[in-house]
Amino acid sequence: MSRTAKAAVYDAPNTPFVLKEYPLRPVKNDEVLVKVTMSTICRSDIHSYEGHRPNPCPGILGHEIIGTIDQLGSDIKKDMRGDTLKVGDRITWSEYFYHGECYYREVHDMPQKCHGVRKYGHDLAEEDPHFLGGFAEYCYILPGTWILKLPDELSDEEATPINCGVATMVSVTEAAEIQMGDAVVVQGLGLLGLYGCAMAKARGARLVIGVDAVESRLDVAKKFGADHTFNAAKMKPAEVTKAVRALCKPDGADAVIEVCGVPDVIPQGMEMLRTGGRYVLGGLVSPGANVTIDANMIVKKWIQMRGIHNYHPRHLIQALDFVMANRDRFPFKSIVDSKFQLKDLQEAFRKASERTVLRAAVIP
Ligand SMILES: [Zn+2]
Repeated sequence: MSRTAKAAVYDAPNTPFVLKEYPLRPVKNDEVLVKVTMSTICRSDIHSYEGHRPNPCPGILGHEIIGTIDQLGSDIKKDMRGDTLKVGDRITWSEYFYHGECYYREVHDMPQKCHGVRKYGHDLAEEDPHFLGGFAEYCYILPGTWILKLPDELSDEEATPINCGVATMVSVTEAAEIQMGDAVVVQGLGLLGLYGCAMAKARGARLVIGVDAVESRLDVAKKFGADHTFNAAKMKPAEVTKAVRALCKPDGADAVIEVCGVPDVIPQGMEMLRTGGRYVLGGLVSPGANVTIDANMIVKKWIQMRGIHNYHPRHLIQALDFVMANRDRFPFKSIVDSKFQLKDLQEAFRKASERTVLRAAVIP
């Protein structure tokens, strides 16, 4: 008796998701089949859905996924930390995978930027093995993926964003070189920004300042370690900059992190920095993020500017450990604030797109 399972398929940008059934086949020796327990809608899923960046159609979106092992290939014995894997274990896994040798991995230790790197939620649903995205009942894990077993005490809500949002912010805050006693500004208080505030505090920042244009997010950010917040919709940019600089004594922030996806905030972030400050851009994931800056400021202020995209496998382990170590200090569980069935994916995307929910979860 052959098995089939359902997926909410994305046929073309901005068209309704269609529930379709595809066959499930036995795993190969180096694959895992996972029964999806939760997937969350990442901002980049919305960018794909709205056609801001190319994504194969028809496809299954979703890359923030967790699930339990349904079938385990005979070659796969352990997770990336060495824990034994068995059928029924709840796992997370890297949002990307790659095969073969690569200059970036072998020479520069940047496996996340290998040529030919593939990401879950970015394949054609019509091709074998069909299930390679989160908004479906099952997902195949292909060779070249890093698998990590999840501790039982961690809720699905805490665990699901780990393999994208949380791991990305480990990478971003590492690149920002946050030191004990630093003053850190976080531009954008969506999921990335909230984890950014919490990680800045956990890395020893004395002062964390959050900026966002959505009022409700400002109070939430205070629960995630922000000491001060400013509403960019209610203040002029120059007023926000002045207020931030007044808090970051004596001469501005040590680090600014951009995770709002709005290129216009870059000149403001540069103004907020002290001489020698670090600026890490993590939110500008779609092409066309043009902005005019006075590059003289980069020179005169010795600004160190970095872009971060994706994360190293070690950041996945650090993301899980960070959440485990700080889940009593910060209310990570509250970030996933709405749940939908697979058939209601359309509504989930609409709410996530309007930002009326923080992180929408799909439970197939
Ligand atoms: Zn994502």
